[in-house]
Amino acid sequence: MTPFSIKRKKTKVICAGNVKIGGTAPIAVQSMTNTPTENIRATVAQIKRLEEAGCEIIRVAVPGMAAAEAIAKIKQEISIPLIADVHFDYRLAIAAAKYGANGLRINPGNIGSKKKIKAVTDAAQTFNIPIRIGVNSGSLEKDLLEKHGAVTAEAMVESALRQVDLLDSLKFHAIKLSLKASDIPRTLDAYRLLSCKTDIPLHVGVTEAGGLFPGIVKSSIGIGMLLAEGIGDTIRVSLTRDPVEEVRTAFEILKALGIRKRGPEIISCPTCGRCRIDLFNIAEQVEKALLTSSLTIKIAIMGCAVNGPGEAREADIGIAGGKGTGILFKKGKIIKKIPQAELVDALLKEIMKLEGDKPND
Ligand code: SF4
Repeated sequence: MTPFSIKRKKTKVICAGNVKIGGTAPIAVQSMTNTPTENIRATVAQIKRLEEAGCEIIRVAVPGMAAAEAIAKIKQEISIPLIADVHFDYRLAIAAAKYGANGLRINPGNIGSKKKIKAVTDAAQTFNIPIRIGVNSGSLEKDLLEKHGAVTAEAMVESALRQVDLLDSLKFHAIKLSLKASDIPRTLDAYRLLSCKTDIPLHVGVTEAGGLFPGIVKSSIGIGMLLAEGIGDTIRVSLTRDPVEEVRTAFEILKALGIRKRGPEIISCPTCGRCRIDLFNIAEQVEKALLTSSLTIKIAIMGCAVNGPGEAREADIGIAGGKGTGILFKKGKIIKKIPQAELVDALLKEIMKLEGDKPND
């Protein structure tokens, strides 16, 4: 469901494996593994955890031939499309396509001559896979740096469009674009400008956003603002953390904007001097138990009777704290008063009944 206030920019549709990108397809959530790709066991294990968290497209680094070869085995074990991230050596891109990658991420600027790039687009055509042209603020062409005097949004857009023209001249059109800078103003300017100039689907993210807190804040603002303006067909939150956190954050951004639903929406109050139960602990336990749940219900966890009953009634299910107790609400009705020690279990039990889904331990 897209809220009426968000008018999504219409882009062309491409496919990475069985995932449609662009047009009216759902905005897909991507992440990237941080295991050595040639360590097949570790990479598959990480992708499976990411799949469970909702990741829809996974990218793996292909720094050498062993990593390219590993793609064949990794693909046998996973069920989401795999994109090979290749820099500098065009032969690795060709090998990744041959070993079953569902897409390539390259920066034609560092692949080399037109002949080498043609060899890559030929392989992509043969295996019917798309290419993402990823322009990063840190690796802009020298002549564009000289022309623009700095890594400006205009320079990044010019770099991307120059590379689109190159692929067009090679009759390759299954393209997706990304323009990543590590600061929000440039990221926003670059994507806005690019979105006006092309209908190629866009992959949106703020690169090298940092650790958990700064990364979540930067990504939420950068990706969130663009999505709210209708820009973006796939997203990746970039965090210096377990990539599962990237996927969780991406879905929280999509949920907060009302663009996609995944997992429960938990509304909980910050507590104040009126709260007489250990709400932080209760909220944390419930959040943890439902971490990988696909239930799309609204849960209210409120500290007291001021706003508690109102929020809890509006939610599918909820609790409003009292003095060492909590009132359990379900679909607007009071179910019972429960001692604090039993609140989490009682709430999770009712949630399970509500959707027949079993939360995790
Ligand atoms: Fe304070 Fe109650 Fe509001 Fe929570 S619901 S912030 S405890 S007034």
